Amino acid sequence: MSNWTSTNVLVLNASYEAIHICDVRRALKMLVKGVASVEEESDILVRAERWAIRLPYVIRLRQYVQIPHRPVKFSRRNVLVRDRYTCQYCHNVFSAGELTLDHVQPRSRGGKTTWDNVLSACKRCNLVKSDRTPAEASMTALRSPRAPTITYFMQLTRFSNVAHESWRKYLFLK
Ligand SMILES: [Zn+2]
Repeated sequence: MSNWTSTNVLVLNASYEAIHICDVRRALKMLVKGVASVEEESDILVRAERWAIRLPYVIRLRQYVQIPHRPVKFSRRNVLVRDRYTCQYCHNVFSAGELTLDHVQPRSRGGKTTWDNVLSACKRCNLVKSDRTPAEASMTALRSPRAPTITYFMQLTRFSNVAHESWRKYLFLK
């Protein structure tokens, strides 16, 4: 494998939370320095003057790094990403244009447009639910709405495009 240097490596916090993606050179440096240890590796042996090491796919920091708890900005797009473009009532996946933001507690009854009152819903489900609560409409939401953590959000956005098979058990991906 000649292009192993272009491999991306998933970096986990000491707590196993995925926090970063780095290139393999940086990952190897961290391993050699003892800052991180290998969680998943390939069969490919990388040789340098003083060491030989298997090409890592996932590494984990030995020391826990505090990640600042920045809130994820509330927006229509970010709600769809949080809900993985899945209608929370019929569980089908739709394109952005086919989804609407449903107010769990209807707006007409004081429901706010916030992370914890808004869910992705397809147009059909939104129409059926109308100005009712899920209970009144006999509909069950897949999840109750909540503000996503920055880590969860990063996993859905930054990591999902480049995710290697071996990363999946560390990410909220299926
Ligand atoms: Zn639906």
